[in-house]
Amino acid sequence: MSVEFAEAHLLSQQMNSELTDKKVAACKLANCTKFQSMGFISPYLSNFERLCGRTVEAVICRGNVVRVKFSDAQNLLLAPEYGGIILFHKKDSPIPEKFHLKLDFTDQTALTVLLTGMGIIHALADNELNQSYLYRRDFSQTPSPIDKNFTLDSFSEALLGKTVNLKTALVGKDAIIAGLGNCAFQDVIYRAGIHPKQKASELTKAEQQQLYDAIVSLTEQRLNLGGKTQFIDLYGQHGKYEPVMYSAMAGKLCGVCGTEIIKLSLGGGHCCICPSCQK
Ligand SMILES: [Zn+2]
Repeated sequence: MSVEFAEAHLLSQQMNSELTDKKVAACKLANCTKFQSMGFISPYLSNFERLCGRTVEAVICRGNVVRVKFSDAQNLLLAPEYGGIILFHKKDSPIPEKFHLKLDFTDQTALTVLLTGMGIIHALADNELNQSYLYRRDFSQTPSPIDKNFTLDSFSEALLGKTVNLKTALVGKDAIIAGLGNCAFQDVIYRAGIHPKQKASELTKAEQQQLYDAIVSLTEQRLNLGGKTQFIDLYGQHGKYEPVMYSAMAGKLCGVCGTEIIKLSLGGGHCCICPSCQK
């Protein structure tokens, strides 16, 4: 289960309204040696202890990275990219047994973060943020799908500059948009009726428009439905958006035209398409 832009955005909105003005009383790390050795979690408890006594000023999101801004130029950077659960706990409510980071606030509420796959939990001062690859990737000039500067014109121009296939243009470290993962990518190009191996720079005007519309409409729908069905929000609620194209669809029939869906190898992963709808 990956957390993509819509889910990260929903989490950051919930965290912003729930956590702003709360002060950290204590922090605890648990069972995270393996993740620390891989660099997914900041290496020392002392990294997180810098948050103690600090107050949450705001929670913001770009791409699929959530930045919790604390007073005195401190930050908690969270990216549950390939699976992670961030939960808020009211006073006196039970704390789950499994977590990697727990922050206790002075009003006796708490936040827990659990990574279930690749992702990051980093405590960084403002002047250390650029040490994080995910921060550099998602907090750059690359727009997220709901940003004001994500327009058809800017998107079309960026596509023209990419002489690579659409997957590489839209997902990963060199993408022209922040926050699309493989799950969103498959639904987007299916909606747009475009083949994933098509070169980004060779799309027609009409295809650029279809792709732009598909990204905007998918993002809006996922935000309105509380994210994907596998996603768990800050309050433990599952999202209601059912992805349409995903690996288990291979061999099933396209809901639009009835053609058998096939699975392609693409960019180190897989991509399901309808060979009739996506030429
Ligand atoms: Zn079809």
